[in-house]
Amino acid sequence: MAGFGAEPFRARQLWHWIYHRGVTDFALMTSLAKGFRERLAERYELRRPEISRALASLDGTRKWLLRFDDAQEIETVHIPEADRGTLCVSSQVGCTLTCTFCHTGTQRLVRNLTASEIVGQIMIARDSLGEWPSPRDDRQLTNIVLMGMGEPLYNFDNVAAAMKIAMDPEGLAVSRRKITLSTSGVVPMIERCGRELAVNLAISLHAVTDELRNTLVPLNKKYPIADLLEACRSYPGSSNARRITFEYVMLKGVNDSPAEARELVRLLKGIPAKVNLIPFNPWPGAPYECSSDRAIKAFSDIVFEAGYSAPVRTPRGRDISAACGQLKSESVRARRTVPGARPASESVAASPLLG
Ligand code: SAH
Ligand code: SF4
Repeated sequence: MAGFGAEPFRARQLWHWIYHRGVTDFALMTSLAKGFRERLAERYELRRPEISRALASLDGTRKWLLRFDDAQEIETVHIPEADRGTLCVSSQVGCTLTCTFCHTGTQRLVRNLTASEIVGQIMIARDSLGEWPSPRDDRQLTNIVLMGMGEPLYNFDNVAAAMKIAMDPEGLAVSRRKITLSTSGVVPMIERCGRELAVNLAISLHAVTDELRNTLVPLNKKYPIADLLEACRSYPGSSNARRITFEYVMLKGVNDSPAEARELVRLLKGIPAKVNLIPFNPWPGAPYECSSDRAIKAFSDIVFEAGYSAPVRTPRGRDISAACGQLKSESVRARRTVPGARPASESVAASPLLG
């Protein structure tokens, strides 16, 4: 504002209109003088990413395919539950990592999202849910998880800038306690994430030996399990009240034996941890199958009996390809889909929403 020749306190007023009220038109900012609003409109624009597709699952999950100025696309998913609503936010177009069970990892085009493109996902969800001005309670968007497309710790500066905006109590006002960043294990960035953002941490572990994790999460060759767990042990702010989540995708005959459950318990010793078991979500051409319900239950029981919470994540929005690991930009998916294998999102009656 100073650079624009306006009093610095105008920044606070603008912030309020943009992030608390959610307006997208300077003309509506009635606490600002008319001439000032006009000058702003001449120099700047306020807009959202374009919604190129909006889908609603039969279970209430919504997915938005968003398109940016360079025509790159990403997905954002809202998952409503009885006592909360979680927004799953993307941090990159595609992902440079190539976890073998993840659809995003097969996408070739990759770039980092800007901070504004990350915040834009939250703004779009708030628009669609009708949650302006930022409600104090009774929200449908209570939690944010950085579990969409991309590896957030490979785009840390933009993710951090976006989350600081999301957390600001005068703006979007989502508490850091309700934000979870999920990483496949970028060890050198974990400490900084805790120190600068102090958000909840989730680790995509998925295997208990380096040999297997090297194939499932190839980043493990660079940062093996022992180093990853060491970084978790010293994660700033973790405690018994704020546990680190270990995500574990259940792959039939690959990582789902009782012996592996017992080894998982052994590895987690001394870390304030909880385990999240994710039934594998299939995608066209995926080289894995989901473990049986029995295997998942047996695995969960072993972890639970050792004193860790071990819920099985209910797959949500599978009918619109919105579940974990199914995200991939539609444009790229359409181009790369093999003949005869239809994208899952089009194989069922997904009802388009009005943007
Ligand atoms: N890149 C980050 C965050 C995005 S992935 C990370 O890997 O942690 C969010 C979660 O979904 C991760 O735990 C990821 O391993 C998991 N996931 C990926 N593909 C999946 C699939 N097909 N089925 C179930 N979970 C999957
Ligand atoms: Fe990237 Fe995460 Fe998918 Fe691995 S699981 S390819 S890190 S988005």
